[in-house]
Amino acid sequence: MVLAQGLRVGILGATGAVGTEILAILAERLFPVAELRLLASPRSAGQTLSFRETVLPVEAVSEQTLKGLDLILASAGASVSRQWLPIALKGGAIAIDNSSAYRMEPNVPLVVPEVNPDDLKTHQGIIANPNCTTILMTVALWPLHQVRPIRRIVVATYQSASGAGAKAMQELKDQALDILKGQPPRTEVFPYPLAFNLFPHNSPLNEQGYCQEEMKMVNETRKIFHAPELRLTATCVRVPVLRAHSEALNVEFAEPFPVQEARDRLQKAPGVQFVEDWQRNYFPMPLEATGKDAVLVGRLRQDISAPNALELWLCGDQIRKGAALNAVQIAESLIAQGLL
Ligand code: NAP
Repeated sequence: MVLAQGLRVGILGATGAVGTEILAILAERLFPVAELRLLASPRSAGQTLSFRETVLPVEAVSEQTLKGLDLILASAGASVSRQWLPIALKGGAIAIDNSSAYRMEPNVPLVVPEVNPDDLKTHQGIIANPNCTTILMTVALWPLHQVRPIRRIVVATYQSASGAGAKAMQELKDQALDILKGQPPRTEVFPYPLAFNLFPHNSPLNEQGYCQEEMKMVNETRKIFHAPELRLTATCVRVPVLRAHSEALNVEFAEPFPVQEARDRLQKAPGVQFVEDWQRNYFPMPLEATGKDAVLVGRLRQDISAPNALELWLCGDQIRKGAALNAVQIAESLIAQGLL
C-alpha cells in the first residue's frame, strides 16, 4: 500500500492482540504511513487485515519482507524480536519493540513518552517499549515523583487475560462457557482455570520467590525513572477480566505529600484521567478503562499507617497504553524530535 507522504512501516506480529491494536491506532492517529507491511508467522500468511479503507495481506516475516522499512513496530515475542530485529536494522529501519528482549540492555532506551522522551536521543536503532503494568504505573507516579521523590512502592496488580495475548482472551471466554455448562474448563494458554478464579502471575519464579513479571516492574521502573536505588516490591496476579489491568499502589515519599496537592497534580498529568466520586464509591474499573488511551487513577488517600505514604488505585488498557499506543507515541516522539 503506498500513500503520497510518510514512512514505510512494518508491524511484526500484526495478527496478535497488540499488533491489531497498533494497526487501529496508526489509522486513528493519522500516523504518516507511506507503505504498510503486515508481518507475522508463516501460519498467518495469506490472511488479510484492514488499514483505513484498504485491505492488506499478512506476509510471513523474512529478510525479503523486512527490506526497505523505515520503522518496524514489533509485537511477536522476545525470541522473534531477537531473530528478526537485527536484520530489519541492517536494512536501515528503526525498531520499537514491545517484547522484553532488549529492555534492560544499557544502550537501548526504555521509554514512556510522558516520562522520559529525552532518552530517545541516544537510541542506536532499537527502542524498547516497557512492560504493560510498568507503563501504567509510571504514567501515574511520574507527576508525583517529580515534586516529591518516591522512596518506596508496594504494588499489587490485577492483570487481565489479554495480557497473555489474543488466544488467552478466547480461553477465558471458553472457560466461562464450559463452567456455566457444568463442564471442566479447558486450559491451554494458562496453567489453571482463570474463569471464576485468579492465580499469581504464571511467569517463571526466581530464587527470591518473585516472578518475572514482578521483577520487570522493579527493574524497568528504576530504568525509566533513572532511579537505580528506588525500592519497589510487587505482587502480580491474573484475574478473570478480559481486558485492562488494575493496580493497587502504596507509595512512600521522602516527605509527607498532602492528598489535595497530589490530587491536583494527577488531575493535570498527561496521560492520566482522574476518576473519583466518593459519594457513589465510584473509582477506576477495568471495563471503563477498556479502549481508552488514558490511565484511570483514583481512590487517592493518605496511608493511615505511614505519614509519608499515599494509597491509590489505577486501571489502564494495557493493550493500548500498556503496549500499542505507547509504541506509536514513541514513534511520534521520534518524529517530533527529528530522530525518525
Ligand atoms: P499474541 O496475541 O499471541 O500475538 C503474537 C503475534 O506474534 C502474532 O501476530 C503471531 O503471528 C506473531 N508471531 C508468533 N510467532 C511468530 C514467529 N515465529 N514469527 C513471526 N511472527 C510470530 O501476543 P500479544 O499479546 O500481541 O503480545 C505480543 C508481544 O507484545 C509479546 O512480546 C508480549 O509480551 C508483548 N506485550 C503484550 C501485551 C499485552 O497486553 N498483550 C502488553 C505489552 C507487551 P501468528 O498469528 O502468525 O501466530
